[in-house]
Amino acid sequence: MKKAKEYAWKILPELLNTEGISGNCGKVAAFMAKKLKDIKAGFEMTQKGGVIIKLKGKNNKKVRLLTAHADTLGGMVKKTGGDGRVFIVPVGGVYPYSVEGEYVTIETVKDLRYRGTVVHNNPSAHVNKTLSTEERNFDNISVRLDEKVKNADDVKKLGIDVGDYCYFDPRVEVTKSGFIKSRHLDDKAGVAALFGAIDYFIRTKEVPAYETWFYISVAEEVGNGTISKLPQNCFEIVAVDMGALGSGQTSDEYTVSICAKDSSGPFDYELRKKIVGLAEKNKIPYKVDIYPMYGSDAAAALRTGIDARHMLFGPGVDASHSFERVHRDSLDATTELTIKYILAE
Ligand SMILES: [Zn+2]
Repeated sequence: MKKAKEYAWKILPELLNTEGISGNCGKVAAFMAKKLKDIKAGFEMTQKGGVIIKLKGKNNKKVRLLTAHADTLGGMVKKTGGDGRVFIVPVGGVYPYSVEGEYVTIETVKDLRYRGTVVHNNPSAHVNKTLSTEERNFDNISVRLDEKVKNADDVKKLGIDVGDYCYFDPRVEVTKSGFIKSRHLDDKAGVAALFGAIDYFIRTKEVPAYETWFYISVAEEVGNGTISKLPQNCFEIVAVDMGALGSGQTSDEYTVSICAKDSSGPFDYELRKKIVGLAEKNKIPYKVDIYPMYGSDAAAALRTGIDARHMLFGPGVDASHSFERVHRDSLDATTELTIKYILAE
């Protein structure tokens, strides 16, 4: 168990430093494929670019499916301003306040890469009187390219065009006190926990209770992640995705957060009781919580009409979709609960 937790903790910064925005996850998919080959885990890729790892169980008549998503938030070029500024629109739930000041890379369709910073259109405090009071939106903040550009034509000559992807720097930092702060912990922390579990079963040769699928989706942030390739004999679907922290929430950064209900409705009551029971029995620190503004790939999967019980648990992530942070305690608890769940009848 210790090694599985170490594996998850070690792979997380590497995942965070690998680019992958919904709709453009080739690099993160290739990274995961390489890691799976390293630990000799068989896998297949979906047409959409997701990764599925299947493990045989003691009972192979039924499939248990665990899902996490490797796609993250980002931006896409909408237009170029007359002064050479590049305007972006959000991919997924990006708020202007959470990216103002961020360093970015714009990637063109011909794979050219340009650096820049998201700043206000008139960003100098010594010039703009209303800078501190203006509500931000994607019309008054834009990308200032680190190139000698004066107008839209200059930008076009660089090869930057409408539809190009814009990556926000993740700014990964691992602290001595056991935190990882970075963008995109949603849901790369969940992916790391699943990789910890995969590593555990490959390394120890322990056999899951049922055939188990690990489904790493690449379109959760845009609502259509784990909705294809679902095995019809799947009886339980568990999303391992971030716990939502904040005012009025019970979740924290040191426990695994078990979700009773999110915006899509309550999760399966019996499965929730089973998972809480596993946490209790194995002394895994946990919190049960309700997420007020949240959807997951577990609910997305159910909308396909599949007849399965569904649940959601994962590491508690502070300041979600913004300057996120998680503690190792929470990732450890998530990895352990994932493994205990896969072993449970
Ligand atoms: Zn998520």
